[in-house]
Amino acid sequence: MNENGVLDALKQALRRLPGVGPKSAQRMAFYLLERDRDGARRIAEALSNALERIKHCQRCNNLSETDVCAICSAPKRDRSLLCIVESPSDLVSLEQSGVYQGLYFVLMGRLSPLDGIGPDEIGIPRIEQLLAEGAIKEVVLATNLTVEGEATAHYLSDMIRARGIRATRIAYGVPIGGELEYTDRTTLARALAGRRDA
Ligand code: ZN
Repeated sequence: MNENGVLDALKQALRRLPGVGPKSAQRMAFYLLERDRDGARRIAEALSNALERIKHCQRCNNLSETDVCAICSAPKRDRSLLCIVESPSDLVSLEQSGVYQGLYFVLMGRLSPLDGIGPDEIGIPRIEQLLAEGAIKEVVLATNLTVEGEATAHYLSDMIRARGIRATRIAYGVPIGGELEYTDRTTLARALAGRRDA
């Protein structure tokens, strides 16, 4: 390693964050080292704790500190409804809309054959297991309204309907090509209420 090996390593590490290029990475590294070493320590500690303690919920696949997350273990949730989303941030957006009371499954991605992401990579065998338990009467497909999100919803819809279970798709109000994370609460609430058979 050269003289600035450690600094370079920090810049390279920061560049792994989404939307961070070489200039921003350098700015962040200098800021933390020159002006906020205490903050830098807190970031390092928080990251290290999160990596150690946060895993995936055994049922819904969302990030969780416990084997089964708070939503999956809440007695009040409607166990006949399952909502499938692409990411943890989509789940948060739907929770904030306040209208959905069922359970979730988080794919942690979407089908993307060109990138080698098939059904196994997004947990579809686990969804099949949940459906086989028999409690779920309707699956709400809340993948993004992008090309890949739509393709994923189609695939899931076929799989779900083949088991005699109702599959619905959110639509109303969410713009075509739209991502749930960036859709406002009211629109999301309407999109859920106005879901139609997929
Ligand atoms: Zn869960």
